[in-house]
Amino acid sequence: MQPLTLYVLDLSRPAGADPDAAIIRRQVGDAVLRTDDLGVTRGDGIFETILVHQGVAQAMDAHLDRFARSAAMMDLPAPERALWRRAVEVAAAEMAPLAPFAAVKFVMTRGVETEDIPTGFAYGFVPDDPAGARLDGIDVVLLDRGYRHDVTETSPWLLQGAKTLAYAVNKAALREAARRGAHDVIFVSSDGYVLEGPNSTLIARIDGVYITIPVALGVLPGTTQGDLFAALELAGAPTRVSELFPADLTTADALWLCSSTRGAAPIRSVDGAPVTVDREVTAMMNDALGARTT
Ligand code: PLP
Repeated sequence: MQPLTLYVLDLSRPAGADPDAAIIRRQVGDAVLRTDDLGVTRGDGIFETILVHQGVAQAMDAHLDRFARSAAMMDLPAPERALWRRAVEVAAAEMAPLAPFAAVKFVMTRGVETEDIPTGFAYGFVPDDPAGARLDGIDVVLLDRGYRHDVTETSPWLLQGAKTLAYAVNKAALREAARRGAHDVIFVSSDGYVLEGPNSTLIARIDGVYITIPVALGVLPGTTQGDLFAALELAGAPTRVSELFPADLTTADALWLCSSTRGAAPIRSVDGAPVTVDREVTAMMNDALGARTT
């Protein structure tokens, strides 16, 4: 489905002014981006995709935190939090009558080369229905990301862990998974550390402990993983952030890839080796995500 309205942000206005005055409503098909915008020509920008449940954007603060973190990693101006929050709220509210679950994407690019003013916009859409993947489990393959596990320390200019607009590589990895007959990917560092999916965070349960990967390894801080760990901890389950290796995945009790639009998708095989799908915990996880009010 096409987005209904594009909410274009006037990022040239002084900070602190009325956010509503800086949000300009445009329609699909209107000219809103210059072809020489650096977001278009270089993928030089950042974005977030936030789940909308009954018109309310979920995990808003975690997404705004990550947006600010990505901006800092890219040397982009700090996003004005109140303005972006308002734009997401307005785009989310528009989705309420259209679908119980929808999403809002919000984007900030470096703008046009000579102007030094970022470009910003947000829009709502209905993502693909993830329910099938959640029930049956997904087949994943391990793919080498080509960077070492310490890339954020040695080479921060490679922007690992920033949510940049440059997702062509992530999409190419998903096409490679499809060529191998799988649904999704878990990236592994060139020196053998398990990382994340191209658009999801890994959660493994090993000997009853729920584990995710440290962001120091150049993975995104997952907002869905954050809320899932909070729910698991509330239910008394132990959680941990730690490094994992491919051999750990073969002995795991259960594995999930999680993301804002997909929720928690159980993994049923890794490189063809079967993994147990824990339907009960998967249902509990997705119920917890569905019960969020903010
Ligand atoms: N890792 C990457 C590379 C992603 O692109 C995403 C989301 O798109 C995630 C993890 C999961 O993040 P979230 O749960 O905040 O959607």
